[in-house]
Amino acid sequence: MGINCTLNKNRSNIIFAENECSDGMCCFTCVIPPDNGHVGFLKFLWKKGSGYPYVKLLVTGEGYKNELYDSCKFLNFTISASPTDASLKMDLRCSIYKRRPVQCMGYPDEAGDSLFEKMSGPCIFNEYAAPASYKKLIYKRDWQAFYAIQDDVKAIRNIFVNEDAHTARELLIHAKDVHLATISAGNEESNYILIPLPKRIQNILYLSEKHQPIGTIAQAYHRWQEKIQKNLQNHYGTEWEMKLKNAIETEEKDAGKRRNEDTTGNPEC
Ligand code: SF4
Ligand code: SF4
Repeated sequence: MGINCTLNKNRSNIIFAENECSDGMCCFTCVIPPDNGHVGFLKFLWKKGSGYPYVKLLVTGEGYKNELYDSCKFLNFTISASPTDASLKMDLRCSIYKRRPVQCMGYPDEAGDSLFEKMSGPCIFNEYAAPASYKKLIYKRDWQAFYAIQDDVKAIRNIFVNEDAHTARELLIHAKDVHLATISAGNEESNYILIPLPKRIQNILYLSEKHQPIGTIAQAYHRWQEKIQKNLQNHYGTEWEMKLKNAIETEEKDAGKRRNEDTTGNPEC
């Protein structure tokens, strides 16, 4: 999949609405079985969300193939202009949230199928917001995620609240860090507006005792051992334990250096 990008001049910020899980990243990838089977017969009664099929999740990493994920049919993706400042507020909600299907309701606390350890790994947003050293070790790349909105009037009219579509497009494409991109997948080429996902975790990351933000490689490994081990084995074969040990040591050294810099005010030589 190829991407051609242009970056706009920065103006207003795009921020997430102050709600738990307002990133909704798992609704693109993790919990959706083919044909939304988990929603049962409700899938015939419920209206599609405003995001489907106009918004996709794009994952990129330098030197690696880009990945484009479709959204769940029931995902509501909305953007609204703040009445008080120049920011735009983005929110992702399940349109059937009150009757959220069991599979989604328990995610990520009940993801996985082991009898003794139900939670096999952190949710995708947790991994996205993790330190770069963790991502490089676990995925062998530092990856970025974007919401890719189809650049056409119908798509914008669906997701923009209280705004005329042409005005909305202007606001969107001139917002901070927003890119215009042509993405070709197979024989098809389409124009998209790319919004980078903010990494802020307060207020938007679902938190529970089991589901905590990733701070360090050692802490994440301790918590989500099964899943992380599988990834490492796939990537590094028999050398995975050595890679893990080295990565933890480097991370600890870097953290020590940063602590010294903080106390002395000078970088360590
Ligand atoms: S925080 Fe995790 S579980 Fe919640 S919506 Fe985001 S990806 Fe899904
Ligand atoms: S049904 Fe709702 S919670 Fe489940 S994947 Fe779809 S949008 Fe997300």
